[in-house]
Amino acid sequence: MPVASPEMYRKMLTAARDGHYAYPAINVTSVTTANAALKGFSDAGSDGIIQLSTGGGEFASGLGVKDAVIGSISIAKHVHLLAERYNIYIALHTDHCQPKKLDTYVRPLIAETVRRRAAGKANLFNSHMFDGSELPTDENLKLSVDLLKVCKENEIILEVEIGVVGGEEDGIDNTDTPAEKLYTTPEDMLAVAEQLGGMDAPFMVAATFGNVHGIYKPGNVVLKPKILAEGQQAVADKYGDDARFFLVFHGGSGSELKDIHETLNYGVIKMNIDTDTQYEFTQPLAEHIISSQSELTHTADAMANKKKFDPRSYLKKAEAGMAERIAKGCKDLKSDGKSIFA
Ligand SMILES: [Zn+2]
Repeated sequence: MPVASPEMYRKMLTAARDGHYAYPAINVTSVTTANAALKGFSDAGSDGIIQLSTGGGEFASGLGVKDAVIGSISIAKHVHLLAERYNIYIALHTDHCQPKKLDTYVRPLIAETVRRRAAGKANLFNSHMFDGSELPTDENLKLSVDLLKVCKENEIILEVEIGVVGGEEDGIDNTDTPAEKLYTTPEDMLAVAEQLGGMDAPFMVAATFGNVHGIYKPGNVVLKPKILAEGQQAVADKYGDDARFFLVFHGGSGSELKDIHETLNYGVIKMNIDTDTQYEFTQPLAEHIISSQSELTHTADAMANKKKFDPRSYLKKAEAGMAERIAKGCKDLKSDGKSIFA
């Protein structure tokens, strides 16, 4: 199927909310990792979300260009082409964009979609995240409102963040954030509902409940999923059941299944997975390098083995390893076998 239309994307999100499941949102940085995501979702019979960060986009554009916008456009176009070969829906998304990067990342990508729409083409990205969590809530929401207006005009869904996701990702270090900021309050959620809820435009909310980016030993992350239930209830009490948010779970890697499943009951419809898929991409590669070490480098006595140093020989294994982890992510989030394409 082609990348989901705005209408199909809304249907995906509603189906997930009503069916108490969520889509893995997989960070990709290259053609190979994008292919792994497509295959992983397809193998699981799940629709899914493929996303790029500013760092991922920059990497994808190559060392000689280092342009997050061009790299993200390049991978998005690749996904538009390849998604047609799969019987599932894929949505394209961009991850954390801090206020200072809006003019150099999200806004140029929206402009690209505006150009495409004017030419009768499909939107480039289905949704973008604005991460204004470093700002005071009122400033965060003011910028979110401005962006949601532009998104609405172009049938793009906006993801906003309220509260701070701990840990470190893509050069954004929140490891020293005071603990209380890692938990979104019902007042925060009500402020979002008040500012964005009346705009008649779909949006997603990354609310925080102790979740962190990166990798931690089991037991080191204390999740409090009830925070999400309380926030949603406060919103529903004041604005009605239909006002409940589409919630996004950041830092899903390494989380316990029981916590993940609990969040599905509270309206989480998207969970970002990056660290775990990075790890599973690298494992087969490490195995290849270690087991073939003597064949990878020319020596005085023998030439290296072309079959082993051809990058395809190990990148195929890496792609398969990552795809397998993504299919597992679909099962964990209960989106497997639920593609609305079928
Ligand atoms: Zn995140």
